[in-house]
Amino acid sequence: MPQRLVILGGVAAGASAAAKARRTNKGAEIVLFEQDPYMSFANCGLPYYIGGEIPTRASLFVSDPFTFEIRFNIDLLLETAVVAIDRDKKEVAFRGPDGESGSLGYDRLIIATGTVPIVPPVEGIDGPHVFFCRTVPDVNAIMERLDKILPRDMEGLRETEGSRLVMRKQTGVRSLIIGGGYIGLECAEQLIHRGIHATVVEARDQLMGVLDPEVVRPVQDGIESAGGRVILNDAVARIETWGDRSIAFLESGLEVKFDLAILATGVRPNVELAQKAGIQLGATGAIAVDAYQRTSDPAIYAAGDNCESIHLSTDDSVNIPLAGPANKRGRIAGHNAALNRLRMRGVLGTGIVRVCGMVAAGTGLTEKAAQQAGTDVAVSYSGTCANASRRYRRTARSSSTAASAIAATWRNRFCSKTAGPTCATSMAVLHLPARSTGRSSHG
Ligand SMILES: Cc1cc2nc3c(=O)[nH]c(=O)nc-3n(C[C@H](O)[C@H](O)[C@H](O)COP(=O)(O)OP(=O)(O)OC[C@H]3O[C@@H](n4cnc5c(N)ncnc54)[C@H](O)[C@@H]3O)c2cc1C
Repeated sequence: MPQRLVILGGVAAGASAAAKARRTNKGAEIVLFEQDPYMSFANCGLPYYIGGEIPTRASLFVSDPFTFEIRFNIDLLLETAVVAIDRDKKEVAFRGPDGESGSLGYDRLIIATGTVPIVPPVEGIDGPHVFFCRTVPDVNAIMERLDKILPRDMEGLRETEGSRLVMRKQTGVRSLIIGGGYIGLECAEQLIHRGIHATVVEARDQLMGVLDPEVVRPVQDGIESAGGRVILNDAVARIETWGDRSIAFLESGLEVKFDLAILATGVRPNVELAQKAGIQLGATGAIAVDAYQRTSDPAIYAAGDNCESIHLSTDDSVNIPLAGPANKRGRIAGHNAALNRLRMRGVLGTGIVRVCGMVAAGTGLTEKAAQQAGTDVAVSYSGTCANASRRYRRTARSSSTAASAIAATWRNRFCSKTAGPTCATSMAVLHLPARSTGRSSHG
């Protein structure tokens, strides 16, 4: 009898696991559960679909149910959520689209349930004009709202000036972005792209807390010079809605009127099912796995944003929710669950984001993360422009490799920052044409 492999989650890690498992084991029965109506789509493209840079919704899909069911011979259960894992019986319990329930046995199980959004406890945050940008249904809802509030004849007013996106006229439509991380900034850029004013509210003292502050500063400049507004060190305390308009009251007393808000205050690993089943979690709160993506239960694997990886710079266990590692770990889990042995070496957390003509990127440790890890940090900057500014001049502190500090200016076409005695860390800010690619990661 062929082995039955059950996979929970059908996006980056889950879909990769299913396809790889089929390639590895032609005879296995593979069943994939996905609680949403859509599977195998590029979350990374969602903001660009909102902005029109990705012109059709179909372009968001990496694969489709037909390919999975017919080409890969995978039983696909969409709109079907797994609600419990019984490890003793080796069974999952599920609930289907019409509320019907059932259970299914497994020989091997892969948990690829991704993340859940962090929702701050703010009165009115569940109001009618506040949206997530995480799934296809989320962007459907955003597009429906935009269709309602955006005058069609006011579209296409944006223009570019050199490599920068500049708003000549605005549509009068106002958006609020709650959270200044990658996703919030990508959404801000894309709304600006459509002539919508964007206010980004971030509780910390810098945008994109995963990068060092001076690496991110040009991104803030980019948003502001495109006509957007950035409010740091402040948070939304309350939201009120009257008819078609809403107001966010910030902790500082500021008020931000908006027609559409996007909530992007981060995610945490979706581990509830695993936790209830008694599968071991790591110190980060994500599922603990070994290099073969095995959990504490030898019949159960985990892959993607819901589990830990080893950081190649520090050897520490980390939880870095990025698509590159999620796909890679999905493939490894799929391969191994289908009876072979592939190893995951670790991750570097490589990411790059383009916002209003500026691109910030990072890999390895940031300066602040290296300091937190107790590394004796040296920092150097380099740029291609001879006309370097003193503004970002830094002197290398003691380090076994004594890296030099080179003055650089963000007005350079290219400026990079390197930190850490082993040069395992590298941060870069690039000034690229506005039509360059969006964010991608290679983990
Ligand atoms: C707007 C946006 C932009 C992004 N941009 C980038 C980028 O540019 N670069 C980058 O590297 N990363 C980016 N990411 C992050 C990237 O998308 C994730 O790292 C990646 O999708 C994680 O894959 P995953 O399979 O682990 O989880 P997910 O993609 O979250 O998939 C998990 C799936 O599991 C399903 N599920 C959960 N629980 C159950 C259950 N009980 N039963 C059945 N199904 C269940 C969920 O419905 C979900 O579809 C972005 C994310 C978003 C939201």
